[in-house]
Amino acid sequence: METSFEISVTPSTDPVGDARLAEILAAPGFGTHFTDHMYVVEWTPDQGWHDARVTPYAPLSIDPATAVLHYAQEIFEGMKAYRHADGSVWTFRPEANAERMMRSARRLALPELPVGDFVASVDALVRADERWVPDPAGEKSLYLRPFMFASEVFLGVRPAKHVTYMVIASPAGAYFARGPVPVSIWLSEEYTRAGRGGMGAAKTGGNYASSLVAQQEAIEQGCDQVAFLDAAEGKYVEELGGMNLYFVHDDGSIVTPELSGTILEGITRSSIVELCGKLGHQVDERRFSVDEWREGVASGRIAEVFACGTAAVVTPVGTLKWAGGEVTSGNGTDAGPVTQKVRQTLVDIQYGRAEDTFGWMHQV
Ligand code: PMP
Repeated sequence: METSFEISVTPSTDPVGDARLAEILAAPGFGTHFTDHMYVVEWTPDQGWHDARVTPYAPLSIDPATAVLHYAQEIFEGMKAYRHADGSVWTFRPEANAERMMRSARRLALPELPVGDFVASVDALVRADERWVPDPAGEKSLYLRPFMFASEVFLGVRPAKHVTYMVIASPAGAYFARGPVPVSIWLSEEYTRAGRGGMGAAKTGGNYASSLVAQQEAIEQGCDQVAFLDAAEGKYVEELGGMNLYFVHDDGSIVTPELSGTILEGITRSSIVELCGKLGHQVDERRFSVDEWREGVASGRIAEVFACGTAAVVTPVGTLKWAGGEVTSGNGTDAGPVTQKVRQTLVDIQYGRAEDTFGWMHQV
């Protein structure tokens, strides 16, 4: 793949010891342990992208007037590196993450990092920290977090003229501690995530900041996750705080909320559209109202509901709870057959246990 600049590598002189690393990889949790290295590249209008480097992982020294701390001009990505049984290491559709980050960059008035340089940045970090990619047992992986932020020291409100892009990595176990058992969803009727013309389709920190109070409400209601409705009418299902949604009907037809401009275009979501087509289930991407969800589950027309995203892959959704009541799809304890099939097919491709007929995997 074409790249536009070189990357220098300075190996850590103090990497985590083998015994400690084995301990971390045995129970990595999510987002708490970080690898020995990080990737950094800077951007200015005059120099473009420059000074790309893999260096030992270390805290950043940030001036208090750094623009991102004030105006949140920031975007990020989330993806994983998977180890296959033969020891090789792969990422899943990294070009799709690169393209989404370019779209996010345009929305946040940040510079675009070319696809080849994005993929090279992730590859460079994964190579430097290869020993941090867990063995595939237990669906472990190395979570990768590319991010870009306004690093100019300036308090004026305008796009920054100094931008930093970085990649860090963190070993990950299964996202939901209880495994792929159904999660419960709180319907947020007070808060919305994104409005027309807003940032909903961009992967930017502000969207997550705005979701936290709703997620807190979900926890208070005894639910695992929050679902958001469209801001204009408060009728149509958009997505969860960090996952897209799928609805499976009793006749096998499948619906996922359309890309409205206010939801994030999940890489997992797009992959499942293609996958379901191949499995013989046409996916209808359209507006889907919360009444259709409630009534569909109550009448049995909706047989399965699942959520999808990089972190959780595919997770069955059981109960939908709102201020006035609740409905539960499935038996509340197991994933339905379509959910299981989609999840297994995807996971098998990611871990190299099934042939990648889509050409989705990229060897690092
Ligand atoms: N929606 C939101 C709001 C998310 O944060 C994520 C996770 N990136 C997703 C959907 C799923 O996206 P992906 O499949 O690319 O992880």
